[in-house]
Amino acid sequence: MIDQLKQLEHAARSLEPHPLLRQQLQASVTAHGDAFLDSLANAPAYRYQTEQGDSSFDPTISEEGSAVEAALAFLSEAVDISGINLPSGRMLGYIPGGGIFHSALGDYLAAITNRYSGHFFAAPGAVRLENVLLRWMAELIGYPDTSAGNLTTGGSLAHLTAIVTARDDYDALGEDCHRFVVYLTEHTHHSVHKSLHIAGLDKCLTRSVPVDNRYRLNPQALDKMVDADKKAGLIPWLIIASAGTTNTGAVDPLSAISDVADSFGCWLHIDGAYGALFALCEEARPILRGMDRSDSIIMDPHKTLFLPFGTGAVLVKNREALYSSFHWQADYTKDLPDDQDELSPADLSPELSRHFRGLRLWLPLKLLGLAPFRAALSEKILLARHFYEAMKKANGFEVGPYPDLSVVTYRYLPRRGNIDDFNQRLIQRVLMDGRVFITSTRVNGNFVLRLAVLGFRTHLDEIEEAIEILKRTARELEND
Ligand SMILES: *Cc1c(COP(=O)(O)O)cnc(C)c1O
Repeated sequence: MIDQLKQLEHAARSLEPHPLLRQQLQASVTAHGDAFLDSLANAPAYRYQTEQGDSSFDPTISEEGSAVEAALAFLSEAVDISGINLPSGRMLGYIPGGGIFHSALGDYLAAITNRYSGHFFAAPGAVRLENVLLRWMAELIGYPDTSAGNLTTGGSLAHLTAIVTARDDYDALGEDCHRFVVYLTEHTHHSVHKSLHIAGLDKCLTRSVPVDNRYRLNPQALDKMVDADKKAGLIPWLIIASAGTTNTGAVDPLSAISDVADSFGCWLHIDGAYGALFALCEEARPILRGMDRSDSIIMDPHKTLFLPFGTGAVLVKNREALYSSFHWQADYTKDLPDDQDELSPADLSPELSRHFRGLRLWLPLKLLGLAPFRAALSEKILLARHFYEAMKKANGFEVGPYPDLSVVTYRYLPRRGNIDDFNQRLIQRVLMDGRVFITSTRVNGNFVLRLAVLGFRTHLDEIEEAIEILKRTARELEND
């Protein structure tokens, strides 16, 4: 037995590399990361590659370990190379994600120290730090001290958290569930529908509220619909507004929607995954007015604070409602001290053991201060406006509405042939080139191209390059 233990210990001890090996591993990984960052300026924003036919893709693991060089070479050749290159400043599709360096260092420290950030008693400093960040976000939105929130893995889990809270608060799963009505628009993000489904709310009625010619929810139409539903004996319950849709970047008229929510006693939930954190900059504040009047709101630091993927946030104005939906007591946690000092993430979310994700948010904010974030967000808005003006003037192009934030929709009107077909060929050719990455959507039945500016590496040069590529490619296609 003792011999066996010694043997096992010997084998298991490689889980703890000695200091010299630790340094070597760190140096190799850091060098790999540096090479990646140094390559970004010239790397394509998109590289088409199918998984089939790629013979180098063999991530197999075995009993024996590999050299770090071999593992890193595999990442370079088979992982970092294909698909969308998110950290590229020329990634201008979907809602771009960031990946600031300081955040990676925060993750490194969070993993090394591995604080158990689910419960206050286990890591008071970590939980306090996260709560300070949440209170900072609450202040930015205009929520009172009596609100509470949670740092989630992203916007989708943030939606789910808010929607479950609203469901429980209104007893929307009770006997009357088939009379409960949810109001949203055709531009509401699909993650909202997914959350409603996961929360068991498929039985509720869903109304698609008309939008105006800028794709914003029409509050008068909402008012009429809610009123008619109420008179028909239904129970208007949940209104979903967007502070920046993914489709077109439109910000719904939040104050007017709050008026409707107030007068009918509905829960107002705002999807601010993309747009809410733009409140940090002057340019966006007027259009975002009214966020403070919602009952819950989500935002995505992994979009609008340029963090690497893995951090969203939810805020709920009535913290008792959030606590009552997610607070649970297990037999084996009964002997934990019952402290009221700080709320614990485990009592406010579906998670128990969790990543100490506050650190990847706090470290960059602490080291850099807020000023560069505000500047970068103002820059994104101005870049979108610059792109809009340039495309408006460009021969043959037609632009959608003036951007509320940093998404612009546009398309090319060819001299002959089908407009949708032409634009589909246009985007395909731009993507095959891969220098810039853009995406498309459908509005009012039309296929349109969209440009979303949110990368922290996207500056004037990158936008000029995108404009140039679009104009050139459209010309080429016209002449084909
Ligand atoms: C990205 C996004 C979501 C979903 O958030 P994830 O972080 O991807 O889960 C929801 N709504 C809007 C408007 C978004 O842009």
